[in-house]
Amino acid sequence: MSTLSIENISMRFDLPNGTHVQALQDVSLELKTGELMSVLGPSGCGKTTLLNILAGFLAPTEGQITLNDHRVTGPDAERGMVFQQGALFEWMSVRENVSFGPRMKGQREAEYGGNVDHLLEVVGLKDFKEKAVYELSGGMQQRVALARCLANDPDVILMDEPLGALDALTREKMQGLVLKLWKETGKTIVLITHSVEEALLLGERLLVMAPRPGRIHKEYRLPFAEMGV
Ligand code: ADP
Ligand code: ADP
Repeated sequence: MSTLSIENISMRFDLPNGTHVQALQDVSLELKTGELMSVLGPSGCGKTTLLNILAGFLAPTEGQITLNDHRVTGPDAERGMVFQQGALFEWMSVRENVSFGPRMKGQREAEYGGNVDHLLEVVGLKDFKEKAVYELSGGMQQRVALARCLANDPDVILMDEPLGALDALTREKMQGLVLKLWKETGKTIVLITHSVEEALLLGERLLVMAPRPGRIHKEYRLPFAEMGV
């Protein structure tokens, strides 16, 4: 059982001209294993900042983050990130992208190969594993990004508008895939979205943020919407 908790987080960016942006103000929340929380809020309300803090990419000005009772001070393999787009190695093959994490950990093909092939099958890219990423459609690239994240077997998956750049039909298919993965893997997922519809569809919990300075406006627990997955 893992719990990711953030306590009284504030984030202030000091700008070169002497002014500052208070991106987050006193945000606290707790995420238990297997919870799926979507984060909704207007542009500039601090969603990406919050996710980067959860990932350990940014150190908050105040407050602390703990994962399973130990304090998080930087990125680690327990938290995986899926970005909106563009974070893949486009010149490398699909399979090389998904294998990247395990290889960085020093694993050999014999250790990671089976799992990587399994994940490529799960995201429906079995027949495309030798293709270069730049040859694929946007939806397929996002499926590569999901598989690459899962290959690291993180406890918590942080998604920064992973479906925002996709057309409506592809997005719908990807939403189904995220739900399926969530149910099958039991991972904790935080998903930033601009779409109320997507938040209602995917969120078990829904965090609505308010801007200036970014803070939690309201939190909802939603009846879990079953999609045809
Ligand atoms: P959202 O993801 O909700 O659009 P962000 O977290 O990207 O919001 O940004 C929240 C606020 O913090 C914005 O006003 C943004 O301009 C500011 N901000 C984010 N990152 C930085 C940074 N590195 N330096 C200065 N200001 C930043
Ligand atoms: P997705 O909904 O996953 O984004 P698309 O709608 O972009 O997929 O494409 C639908 C199908 O068309 C893919 O599953 C794939 O079979 C095929 N396809 C799309 N783009 C390419 C490509 N660049 N090379 C080969 N096949 C492709």
